[in-house]
Amino acid sequence: MSVRIKTPNLDEIFEKWKQKAARKDRKKMEKQFGTKGAVFSLDAISAAEYVKDTMKEAAIYFAVKKSLGPAPTGKEENLVMAPKVGREQYYSFKGAGKIDKEKWKGDEKVPHFESIQAVPCKNCRGKGYIDDKCKTCKGTGKIEETFTVLVGEEQNKEKKPFSYPCGACYGTGNRPEPCKECGGHKNMYKYEVLPVPFKTVVTGVPILHSSAQTKYEKEIGDDLHKMIEEVEGIRFSDFKELESKAEASLGYMNKNISKTIGAARSDYKKHEKDKDAQITSQIYLFPMIQMFCETKRGSKFELYSLGSGNKFMTYSNF
Ligand SMILES: [Zn+2]
Ligand SMILES: [Zn+2]
Repeated sequence: MSVRIKTPNLDEIFEKWKQKAARKDRKKMEKQFGTKGAVFSLDAISAAEYVKDTMKEAAIYFAVKKSLGPAPTGKEENLVMAPKVGREQYYSFKGAGKIDKEKWKGDEKVPHFESIQAVPCKNCRGKGYIDDKCKTCKGTGKIEETFTVLVGEEQNKEKKPFSYPCGACYGTGNRPEPCKECGGHKNMYKYEVLPVPFKTVVTGVPILHSSAQTKYEKEIGDDLHKMIEEVEGIRFSDFKELESKAEASLGYMNKNISKTIGAARSDYKKHEKDKDAQITSQIYLFPMIQMFCETKRGSKFELYSLGSGNKFMTYSNF
């Protein structure tokens, strides 16, 4: 069920603005609306006299929290041979505190110096070499020779074995070969490419879309954001509902309002997709009255109201 919201009437809006403007700068009011030689009275300033034109418009508001950094998450690991570790440009943030993203020059993810870690080579189990049979002695550790020895008076030739330790393997029979994986450095080295630890800055941002053709939309949005609790609008949890109930809720509709709803809807979607943003309020639809006024002295100004007859705010560039 949709509830029709009561739009404030023009006199009420004008009255509220008048009181506010007089509190802010009574002299200016007197100058713009006073009569020479007469005692100045606020009562004499009426909407009927000074409001030249009025438009019934609408505004859509929602609030967004935006966080600046730390946007990137996740890490990337690299495993390299010892001589290649130094080819990377490392960064260190130890004791440096959080980084201001606005001032940071460089990638959002960088290799962190403190992440460098030795990982024992799997291929050689951290030894740096692979045991292999000595090729010179075929793993025996000995070089075997056969001497022809002349025996006795007859000097008969006799073959006699003779052996000595192999010089290539120092008699061990093993000849270690440098491990091809780690190049003999025993370890591989791992380092991580991690996000820069940016400061998280969360700021509340009002988003206002209005059907009134006004250059004061941002100012109106900022004012509304501050006093949102004191302004009555119709709240929706999604745009589908808002679109189907907007006309019944406002009691009026025009082309610009439809267009504004469409624009607000795509803006809302954009914020929903933005991972650095979070929508923190429901969607509000406000009746918006735009008044074009002129003072007694002929100065033109605009006056806006947002909200219902019960609770509304005014904005003016007066
Ligand atoms: Zn190895
Ligand atoms: Zn050998």
